[in-house]
Amino acid sequence: MSDSGPGPVTGGVSAYARCDTERALRGTGIVSAVIIDAHAHVDDVPALGWHMPAELLLEQMDAAGVDVTVIMTITDAPEVNPTALEMIRDVMDSHPGRFEAYARIHPWYGDEAEDLVVRAIRDLGFAGLKLHPVTTIAHPAEEASLRLIRRAASFNAPTLIHCGDDPMCTPLEIEQAAIRAPEATIVLGHMGAYYHGQDALAVAERRPNVILETSACPYPDLIGEAVRRIGAERVIFGSDAPGCPPAIELAKVRAAGLTAEQLERVLHLNQQALFDGVTR
Ligand SMILES: [Zn+2]
Repeated sequence: MSDSGPGPVTGGVSAYARCDTERALRGTGIVSAVIIDAHAHVDDVPALGWHMPAELLLEQMDAAGVDVTVIMTITDAPEVNPTALEMIRDVMDSHPGRFEAYARIHPWYGDEAEDLVVRAIRDLGFAGLKLHPVTTIAHPAEEASLRLIRRAASFNAPTLIHCGDDPMCTPLEIEQAAIRAPEATIVLGHMGAYYHGQDALAVAERRPNVILETSACPYPDLIGEAVRRIGAERVIFGSDAPGCPPAIELAKVRAAGLTAEQLERVLHLNQQALFDGVTR
């Protein structure tokens, strides 16, 4: 532990300084009172060389002034890491108040997959479902995926779907899931990424059950345009940490030209409303 008080062990002086600046500005309207990061990863898969400990994430959160982060694995339960849900729950218990979680589930596993969604939300206190159609080769609008999306929606829990330039992950493909499961809240993680941002905005305009999440979206102007076109209520800040540091992802949102009120929605209130809506 650092001798200068509570905080990140290896974050360094600059991390503390940034954090203090954030805190000093809170309540002034310049920065959001609370910041929630809607998308980050914790996992440990030695066989694949993947090591993303919670401590690294906490260090990044403290450096950026992020209060709460939604964590998920980078593996798809029950594949590769069969105890993924318990591992994530342990991380939440070890750091009370800092993490919420989405269950990353592989749609190919039928009843087992659906049971995992129920177990995650009802028994382990998860706040949503994460689907990654690239790593699972499961189209977001195929029945196996829809079954999980609908199950999450039965708890009023959102489904975050990796949405970028990859096959099966474009906004227009995910829109088919939003059409087939109109009762579900579908979050477009990365909001179309590098080439599909405009498609993501068009889908969100058409589908009221779609929310845009900003991680790894390279264009601050597009984030500003999204808020103007679909409203500040359906855009949420995410980082995709630890790969994309929250401080950098946050700077992009702050460069989007939003009002203090809009920022408060994007950085805090919208994700909080998603948490509050879940029947757990
Ligand atoms: Zn991610």
